[in-house]
Amino acid sequence: MTATDTKDKIDILGFNLEKLQNIFADTGLKKFNANQVYDWLHNKLVFDFDKFTNISKHDREILKKKFALPKLVHRSHQISEDRDTEKFLFELKDRRLIESVLISHKNRHTLCVSSQIGCLIGCDFCATATMKYERNLDASEILMQFYHIQNYLKEKNEKLGNVVFMGMGEPFLNYDNVIESINILNSDKGQNFSKRNFTISTSGIVPVINKFTEDENQINLAISLHSVKDDIRSELMPINKTYKVKELKEALINYQKKTKNRITFEYILIDDLNCETKDAFELMNFLHSFSCLVNLIPYNPVAGKPYSTPSKKKQREFYTLLKDKNVNVTLRETKGQDIAAACGQLKAKKEMDNGKQ
Ligand code: SAH
Ligand code: SF4
Repeated sequence: MTATDTKDKIDILGFNLEKLQNIFADTGLKKFNANQVYDWLHNKLVFDFDKFTNISKHDREILKKKFALPKLVHRSHQISEDRDTEKFLFELKDRRLIESVLISHKNRHTLCVSSQIGCLIGCDFCATATMKYERNLDASEILMQFYHIQNYLKEKNEKLGNVVFMGMGEPFLNYDNVIESINILNSDKGQNFSKRNFTISTSGIVPVINKFTEDENQINLAISLHSVKDDIRSELMPINKTYKVKELKEALINYQKKTKNRITFEYILIDDLNCETKDAFELMNFLHSFSCLVNLIPYNPVAGKPYSTPSKKKQREFYTLLKDKNVNVTLRETKGQDIAAACGQLKAKKEMDNGKQ
């Protein structure tokens, strides 16, 4: 989690208050200095040591010598035609690129954050899977996506309402950093952002779902399901060869038994593959075991993929089959396709290094 910049200074942002106090004790700074620094960074969202005015100049010099503030350079900002979706491209300290998406509905703002650069899971329908996997993001880099966009909204007198881990990467393959970033955002000396307003979406890493079941009972869980049939699901999502539908289902039943939380199932509608009438009935059969919300996502086209989006009529028919059987279901409106910011379209392009977009 601890990241160092080129001068081997410690990235200060990814520490929770207790860790910060312990580190400060080793550097000649006081415990109350840690509280002050934590307040500047995580409550006031100020990322310039010189602006920490309640800390003496002498102590600020120590800070500058030992610690670095995260390097997150805002490279570009695209806004969809309907203005509801905004995509931010960030450059990290090692010059790698990530994307975050802000989705707005009236004054309600949801941030879709990335947890990794690329993704090792390799789902066949997903743009992120086509880029090279580089590494996990550290807690500081996850937090910075939130803080940057929170500061952007602050200028309009608005603020974030929800955070979903549905950007680039598989959050359950970067579990510790994802949970640490949520804990810091949740802390009452920081943003005091309720755990209930976070959703982690996973392709279904069963051992980590089991760990999550033991560790957390407030953060929302979303499962990328897309089919309840092993042959189809394995074709779409190679992770299903390791953790089959039955095993996933058992882990989720256990999760729900322990936490009593409603589960969200994401289900991409792909033409001629998983959205015929029989698929709806098989899905409902699977859902019987759960208190859940089903989020139907019309497939967002990704260049070079052999899949297509079903017609609006077919999407509606699938939705109605579920709705009529009292399934709690929503049909997601396609948003942000014009700026490649819709689900599964995130792919921070290396060409941008040359200024091409
Ligand atoms: N890795 C995590 C979270 C990021 S993906 C996961 O897979 O759950 C966020 C969501 O976008 C997932 O439900 C994923 O299946 C979906 N998605 C990926 N590619 C898509 C595409 N081309 N069209 C629609 N949804 C897509
Ligand atoms: Fe990774 Fe999620 Fe894309 Fe699958 S859908 S490749 S798990 S980011």
